Amino acid sequence: LASQLAETLASTEQMQSSVAALQQKVANSHQEIESLRSELERTREDAVRCPLTKVLNRKGFDQRLRALFDPQQATGPSSCLVMIDIDHFKKVNDNHGHLLGDRVLAALGEVLRASVQALPGASVARYGGEEFAVLLPGRSLDDAAALAESVRANAKSVKIKQRTGDKVLGTISVSAGVAALQAGDDEAALIARADAALYRSKRDGRDRVTVG
Ligand code: GH3
Ligand code: MG
Ligand code: MG
Repeated sequence: LASQLAETLASTEQMQSSVAALQQKVANSHQEIESLRSELERTREDAVRCPLTKVLNRKGFDQRLRALFDPQQATGPSSCLVMIDIDHFKKVNDNHGHLLGDRVLAALGEVLRASVQALPGASVARYGGEEFAVLLPGRSLDDAAALAESVRANAKSVKIKQRTGDKVLGTISVSAGVAALQAGDDEAALIARADAALYRSKRDGRDRVTVG
């Protein structure tokens, strides 16, 4: 009996230790799943963000624009798009080099991100090159024009500076075009209207906002 008891005790202990080992394995797996999940989240986030300007990239913009036309996510009667383009940006690159040009893009990205901070639902994206887009779901043309105007004014604070030293080599200006979503529009129609307004800002002398 004693030896049987000793055997049972030993196998119980063995079982306990394998249960503990299993519990540890499960806990480790949970941890691994959690870290994979947050890594996936980061990767998803990176896939739609421009690393230089920290705003949405074109893919992210297209997603948000598509959502604007989703009847399930209707945002009310009015939504707007603002297109913003840096004036004579080619000259910034030609005169100061592409690295400084990149820093100007990054600084404007910061201005744009700050400009929509008080506007929940708004999205800022780098549409391409030195062109940015701000989507304003559920906002009026007046709101959108005010935002465009504040971006235009705040872009003046972006200074082209030498990498070493504080010497200001120049400043930038931006032109903007504002358009409101209209009945019967598709994505392309809204972009074309904002683009046409931006083109008018350029034609009329740049450093201005045109409401289309
Ligand atoms: P406009 O006032 O008519 O818009 O003139 P612009 O010179 O800004 O326009 P243009 O289309 O002639 O030139 C755009 C320039 O933007 C040319 C291109 O080298 C520069 N650019 C586009 N993407 C980048 C980028 O990622 N980094 C830098 N440094 N430059 C870029
Ligand atoms: Mg330009
Ligand atoms: Mg351009």
